[in-house]
Amino acid sequence: MASFVFPPAAPTVLNVAGGALFPVRRVFCVAKNYADHAREMGSDPDREPPCFFTKPTDAVTSDPTIPYAPATKRLDYEGELVLALGSGGADIPAEKALETIFGYAVGCDLTRRDLQAGFKSAGQPWDMAKGFDLSAAVGVIAPAADIGHPAKGSITLSVNGTQKQNGNLDQMIWSVPEIIATLSKFVTLATGDLIFTGTPAGIGPLFSGDRVDIRIEGVGAHAFSIV
Ligand code: MN
Repeated sequence: MASFVFPPAAPTVLNVAGGALFPVRRVFCVAKNYADHAREMGSDPDREPPCFFTKPTDAVTSDPTIPYAPATKRLDYEGELVLALGSGGADIPAEKALETIFGYAVGCDLTRRDLQAGFKSAGQPWDMAKGFDLSAAVGVIAPAADIGHPAKGSITLSVNGTQKQNGNLDQMIWSVPEIIATLSKFVTLATGDLIFTGTPAGIGPLFSGDRVDIRIEGVGAHAFSIV
């Protein structure tokens, strides 16, 4: 067997409550999935088809400190529910979609908002506004076997103790089963994939030294500092 020209990169992993490790395969994200946030971004919150984008797998971090990203003057937080898939498939029916979920985590979709605005107005891809290093903060995965499948529950984000986002999972425009059903028409989903499910209203900027604390009722919490 041929040898590698250099050692393969170590897998990206997340901690699972109870001590096991979850190997991350790919990272998918849904844009504008809460009506109030769609409005604050200047979009019609009616049920336009969900808009998906991706982040590189090694953008995922559980570190308690995240360096302020380079090449931006407007690094935004977006608190989100993250799905961790235990199985996959193509054309998954919505009524079977929850069966693919291994567990849930609390995450933050860090965004270079200034670059995103420029790319949008220029009709260019969002990649460098969304898919940069350490742009996908994710906490410990709570297995669905332990917590079930939360369809409602508060989702809050605070910066330095001041609440900035306060929504509810039941405000999603596209539900978790609908997200999985739709995304699996575009790609064959697989074990290890993560899906960020969108953020409620109240997005805003972060500055070096800020402490971010995100909580989702029935799922857990994740906190980190920008340094
Ligand atoms: Mn987002």
